[in-house]
Amino acid sequence: MKDSVLVVNSGSSSIKYQLVDPAAGVAIASGLVERIGEPDGRITQRHGDREGEHRGAIADHAEGLRLAFAMFTEAGLDLHRAGIAAVGHRVVHGGEVFYRPTVITDEVLAEIARLSSLAPLHNPANVIGIVGAMRELPNVPHVAVFDTAFFHTLPAPARTYAIDAEVARAHGVRRYGFHGTSHEYVSGQVAQFLGRDPGELNQIVLHLGNGASASAIAGGVAVDTSMGLTPLEGLVMGTRSGDIDPGIVMHLRRSADLDIDALDELLNRRSGLKGLSGVNDFRELRRLIDSGDESATLAYDVYIHRLRKYIGAYLVTLGRVDTITFTAGVGENAADVRADALAGLEGLGIEVDPARNGAKEHVARVISTDASRVTVLVVPTDEELAIARASAALVGV
Ligand code: AMP
Repeated sequence: MKDSVLVVNSGSSSIKYQLVDPAAGVAIASGLVERIGEPDGRITQRHGDREGEHRGAIADHAEGLRLAFAMFTEAGLDLHRAGIAAVGHRVVHGGEVFYRPTVITDEVLAEIARLSSLAPLHNPANVIGIVGAMRELPNVPHVAVFDTAFFHTLPAPARTYAIDAEVARAHGVRRYGFHGTSHEYVSGQVAQFLGRDPGELNQIVLHLGNGASASAIAGGVAVDTSMGLTPLEGLVMGTRSGDIDPGIVMHLRRSADLDIDALDELLNRRSGLKGLSGVNDFRELRRLIDSGDESATLAYDVYIHRLRKYIGAYLVTLGRVDTITFTAGVGENAADVRADALAGLEGLGIEVDPARNGAKEHVARVISTDASRVTVLVVPTDEELAIARASAALVGV
């Protein structure tokens, strides 16, 4: 238990947490606090083969963490005495200030709060989670690991939006990129799995979960990514539109009389697969497609079309691509998405092997043919482990 890291991922009404042994790369315990602030709050957690559940109102994040800690103590795991080396917090937006894991001081916390203007849905929740966890574990270093950090290397042409430069500067408008912890972790795993030096590899990583993003990585350094100022840009996602003509926003503001909050809700929560088909989960989408639902089929086709567009763009950005890797819920599980994303690209040296692609294994694996010039892989992501390792490294464990 000594030298373990508690990883906390705090959302607006939920907290996901995991106690990780970073050296062994295993989760010792994990849990989820849900529906904070509502009458029907819920905590579910697991420690080894023991599972626990709490139901009832949870006033705020601090109470959620307090209850979660008490449940662990009941299950024989006293986190106050467990020798936790650090608490690692996932923080969504690091702005231009934070580009590496950072020990959280009062000043750092204030800066993360200040960056809320760039991530109004995420950073305030992260701050509340940090404050709650610091109250529970005041004598342990707390570390912020930023979702944007891996992309601080984006070259100017990739990070710059072609709008009035003064306006952009005054309001911090640039491409920041998100899911960085996952893109960094997965690209590192690819190099390790292939026994190659990350500095030699040009990689495309496709993180396809409920949120989805693509990245182009040259020699271990991120050179482009599909998410932008916010996690709304780029690929079609479960409930987010990804790329749209910005003129749509003005058009709907004027002709549908939607205010900014309604537009925000439309594009973040009622668009993407859900907006087109009514469902945001790929398994449900597949069931609808199989039952002959035309809007589900269109949603799938739009999803694949956008994905292929980004793959094409990054093939050109990188010039030479060694690996294309699928990760996260959809990327790791949906063989049809992987096959369709790369279909017909034999002329570009990309050839997926149907049998390898169809195998249901949850480990890093190659799914391209032996003849394929580009190696195509599936690599499970593990953001919690990446955060735990980054936090442990920072505090010298
Ligand atoms: P994530 O955000 O990485 O947890 O991914 C969540 C998404 O992965 C879900 O919304 C599903 O759409 C998708 N997913 C999970 N399991 C499967 C599966 N077996 N087949 C297809 N999609 C899946």
